[in-house]
Amino acid sequence: MSEFSIIENYFQSRSFQRKDVSLGIGDDCAITDIPEGQSLAITTDTLIKGVHFPDNTPPGLIAQKAVAVNLSDLAAMGAEPAWISLSLSLPAHDDNWLNQFSSGIQEMCEYYSVQLIGGDTVSGPLSITITAHGFIPKGQALTRSRAKPGDLLYVSGSVGDAALGLAITQNKVDALPSHGNYALQRLNAPSPRVLMGTMLRRIATSCIDISDGLLSDLRHVLYASQCGAIVNLETLPLSLAMRQTVDQEQAFQFALNGGDDYELLFTVPEELKGQLELALVNANVSATCIGQVTGPNDKLRLKLDGEEYQTEVQGYDHFGQ
Ligand code: ADP
Ligand code: MG
Repeated sequence: MSEFSIIENYFQSRSFQRKDVSLGIGDDCAITDIPEGQSLAITTDTLIKGVHFPDNTPPGLIAQKAVAVNLSDLAAMGAEPAWISLSLSLPAHDDNWLNQFSSGIQEMCEYYSVQLIGGDTVSGPLSITITAHGFIPKGQALTRSRAKPGDLLYVSGSVGDAALGLAITQNKVDALPSHGNYALQRLNAPSPRVLMGTMLRRIATSCIDISDGLLSDLRHVLYASQCGAIVNLETLPLSLAMRQTVDQEQAFQFALNGGDDYELLFTVPEELKGQLELALVNANVSATCIGQVTGPNDKLRLKLDGEEYQTEVQGYDHFGQ
């Protein structure tokens, strides 16, 4: 099967269609329309075999994660996803692999009403690069740089589950089957917080998605906003699976330094707390206040029940030593 029939059979014929795409897969470029009054948010992420997923990961899960991590970046800016393009490097032509992979891409596209509008297909080591495009009403993007001293610090969902899942796959931690399944699902098929991101546009002062670890990503916000923060560890949202599988110290390590959670970490002015809580209830999503932003000369401080807490800050850095 040629490159062209791979594209046609697995990507073009299955692609979810949107009205704002006047030309999708098949020409030299895709042609799309941006709605009046909206800005375009654009992001790219690459997943490489052996770095971002183990060799034996099912192709459908690789596809889901590749889309999810990109949509999570859009969510962190408050963007509503619209289109993706897919650059695929494949070691061999494997129909079974392609079938499962393209089904994974299409399931995500249908779920989030996103259209696959183009890409590239080449022969080489297995790697997947997705570029995602989304809309934000002009001037309403959520950036990392506008947190203010006094803002409350929130995180969506629960934190550390992906790190717990990774530790379980590496046989470093034993878990009940149901807890293991939950943590693996969180590791392999993260849910980008798309709805929450759009909901936060008029409420949050800053936002980031947690990909490298809560502390590491919080530092990006604090650096960009020139602020410090206090995080109260007893308020960290830990899943039932986490609480019933590891001790508190280990849970904090996973929650603070583990990557791949794809939850949103955001800051909200104290006076908008009520508005946030109402919006969370209306959208049926959860977020927990875990601390507060402090002044420009402060550092990031961790507290447990009011006492200073020491921990190593790690986070994932591809070029780290
Ligand atoms: P070109 O040689 O002009 O770059 P290609 O042969 O690479 O064109 O691609 C043909 C068409 O198929 C283009 O519209 C391209 O965007 C699309 N395409 C290629 N690979 C993929 C893929 N993996 N997923 C989706 N669309 C793809
Ligand atoms: Mg090409």
